[in-house]
Amino acid sequence: MNIQWRVPFGDLQRSHQALQAELLAAASRVIESGWYILGTEVSAFEREFAALCGVDHCIGVASGAEALYLALVAAGIESGDEVITVANACMYDVAAILQAGAQPVLVDVDPVTQNIDPAALAAAITPRTRAVIPVHLFGRLAAMPAIMAIAEQHGLIVIEDAAQAHGAWCLDNAGQPRMAGQWGHLAAFSFYPSKNLGALGDGGAVVTNDAFMAERLRRLRMYGWERKYYTTESGGRNSRLDELQAALLRVKLTRLAAANAARRERAGWYAAALTDLPLGLPADEPGHVYHLYVITLPDRATRDRLREHLLAHGIGCDIHYPVPTHLQPAYANLGYRAGSLPVTEELAGRILSLPMYPELSADEVALVAKTIRMGLV
Ligand SMILES: *Cc1c(COP(=O)(O)O)cnc(C)c1O
Repeated sequence: MNIQWRVPFGDLQRSHQALQAELLAAASRVIESGWYILGTEVSAFEREFAALCGVDHCIGVASGAEALYLALVAAGIESGDEVITVANACMYDVAAILQAGAQPVLVDVDPVTQNIDPAALAAAITPRTRAVIPVHLFGRLAAMPAIMAIAEQHGLIVIEDAAQAHGAWCLDNAGQPRMAGQWGHLAAFSFYPSKNLGALGDGGAVVTNDAFMAERLRRLRMYGWERKYYTTESGGRNSRLDELQAALLRVKLTRLAAANAARRERAGWYAAALTDLPLGLPADEPGHVYHLYVITLPDRATRDRLREHLLAHGIGCDIHYPVPTHLQPAYANLGYRAGSLPVTEELAGRILSLPMYPELSADEVALVAKTIRMGLV
């Protein structure tokens, strides 16, 4: 598409322009160091990101997809095990479960939060269930107190998919805020460039408070080596965060809190401008970091019409995600069909993601809102 955007869906150049000098200095530091894999930048970033999440260990890996796979292997998930997750989060989790040799079990989501429905999770547990992967979709934490209670009762391992939730939190049963990454036994993060904390390339991390699994992950990301040329883990591969990305991420990490606050402010602007229209708005929860700002239209025809209207007027928008995992051609053999996950399927036809990034201006939000208003009459 060759569109002259009036409001682009994303604009990473805008965010990096302001940081250019610092990013270049970080890159130069790495280039001049002569050391490019698993050095001081990666260990410093791991310390800093673990501190942000409030956990003991962070292991930098090659991507979010790799973080999910390595977390499953580190947790001892293997062939014959069932792992429960959702079908509205773009396949990453199912792909990782299958790579680990286990069986994905897909359950429906809550119609309001679009996160895993704890009742559906509880109902899907069998004697073979070993783990659950709740996804903190769009930057809002899944119902973690309920999920942890169910997992504890059944002895399940919880691996948070926190790829969209850097710095997000929700309250625990004692009313204390608890971060994404601090709830489960393990949590997987992605640093894909457009995430709330994004590298200038690929990257990911697993965080955990479990020292045994942390050690295992350090071996698994490097061919399964316990020390150079001695392999003690099968399932290991080459999956490392590199020094250059770690150095750039350290610059971006210092801006994460401000960037999340800016996203929240923009969510407030959208909510104020759209509140009287016949559409569903994301909940205003204090720990929501709005990786995406996703509105819900009354039906598929209205959504599709609004999407065309916005694009025709130079307003970027997208659908996250258009086809649920269980209806993807590659996963037809998992045993689901149309109608298996009614809430997931229905939402896929009604959701629309609007531009959402810290550098979005008030005028741009107003223009998006005005164009939506025009499109809905
Ligand atoms: C982006 C994302 C991933 C995958 O991360 P990559 O770094 O792109 O491999 C996994 N899960 C969710 C929910 C994501 O949004």
